[in-house]
Amino acid sequence: AKKPGQTISKGHKNYDLMLNLQLGIRYSVGKHGSVASVLQQSDFDPKEKFWTRFPPEGSKTTPPHQSPEFRWKDYCPAVFRHLRELFQIDPADYMLAICGNDALRELSSPGKSGSCFYLTHDDRFIIKTAKKSEVKVLTRMLLSYYRHVSQYPDSLVTRFFGVHCVKPIGGLKTRFIVMGNLFYSEYRIHRRFDLKGSSHGRRTDKPEGEIDENTTLKDLDLNFVFRLQRDWFQEFIKQINRDCEFLEAERIMDYSLLVGVHFRNGNNCEKMGLSPFLLRSGKTGSFQNEKFMRGCRFLEAELQNMDRLSAGRKPLIRLGANMPARAERISRRSDYDQYMTQGRVAHWTPSRSRGSCEVVLYFGIIDILQDYDITKKIEHAYKSLQVDPVSISAVDPKHYSKRFRDFIGRIFIEER
Ligand code: ATP
Ligand code: CA
Ligand code: CA
Repeated sequence: AKKPGQTISKGHKNYDLMLNLQLGIRYSVGKHGSVASVLQQSDFDPKEKFWTRFPPEGSKTTPPHQSPEFRWKDYCPAVFRHLRELFQIDPADYMLAICGNDALRELSSPGKSGSCFYLTHDDRFIIKTAKKSEVKVLTRMLLSYYRHVSQYPDSLVTRFFGVHCVKPIGGLKTRFIVMGNLFYSEYRIHRRFDLKGSSHGRRTDKPEGEIDENTTLKDLDLNFVFRLQRDWFQEFIKQINRDCEFLEAERIMDYSLLVGVHFRNGNNCEKMGLSPFLLRSGKTGSFQNEKFMRGCRFLEAELQNMDRLSAGRKPLIRLGANMPARAERISRRSDYDQYMTQGRVAHWTPSRSRGSCEVVLYFGIIDILQDYDITKKIEHAYKSLQVDPVSISAVDPKHYSKRFRDFIGRIFIEER
């Protein structure tokens, strides 16, 4: 299959920038062979300056290179070294993936924020350009993030491996955040959903025919629920709650649950009316593969089709249960309406023989660097004038987290 994104080769507008990033990371990772045993308080201080000059002719500590001079900054490098170790990222693998001869690929900007995304050749790492405010949020919460992911190895929050800045002489700063690709796996991801639990604007703008594996689908595009084995379900919900508590305490909002779906069994999926191209590309294999399981968060699940919604692209959540004000606008009585007004899918017992499909899910909580600052407050006030305030994504962190968890509680259900 053709890999998504555009390879960054000579002549690409960001060629120099990527070269600088690669030089910088090779320098940073190579500089500290072994991890110091204990982190100090000062290691978390973003004011500690780690700027390095990279003149083209090289210096005592930096190699010669082919681009104009630039400066390189590492944010809290000792902390990220520890984090990489915690997440079992081998330094040599890390360096090779990002700085090896294989070019990075630029993804055609998947988000609305204007950030650029780069994928390493081996698909393991994603590098996202970040705003100054996002780097601030990350460094501000770094200590509690570190504690959280140390305490909960199964945490679903994005794994961060490094934060850097490149500044060409006379040019602008570009900040980068290196993180894990949630969809790094040997199984093909057939559908991806970016879910927030809000409904305003939460539908892909692509026409049905153009939707493929690389399309990021949203809340209103989801027309099935995920049925999980009981103990997995409970583990999953427990971890979602812990992670949301953490994010709420850090006053974070606007994050999403990113879900990647791998369909295991073509036949059933076809019965469910899923597009045939999915079925052709399905791979099968053993799930007991040790190597594959390590560092990967996935669950086997069953997709449960929403009964009459199987035909067409009707949304699972048109109205959230937390939006009772709008519920009376539904005129049609159906299982679907009942489901919506009850608000909890646990009470909804569809017959299991009707369209279900085995899947493997990959997921994590992404885009966690937006705090509830003044711009969001204004966005909320402004949008509330136009639409139902609970349906928009910019609500305060407490509400955000509640709505997010409520939503997850409706789309994931427990095997009984
Ligand atoms: P916005 O703020 O408009 O939502 P953004 O530019 O901040 O967008 P993100 O929400 O971080 O971007 O990511 C956009 C998309 O990129 C996601 O919906 C997802 O498809 C993909 N993506 C982001 N992070 C990861 C990750 N760690 N693993 C896999 N895919 C990712
Ligand atoms: Ca986002
Ligand atoms: Ca964002």
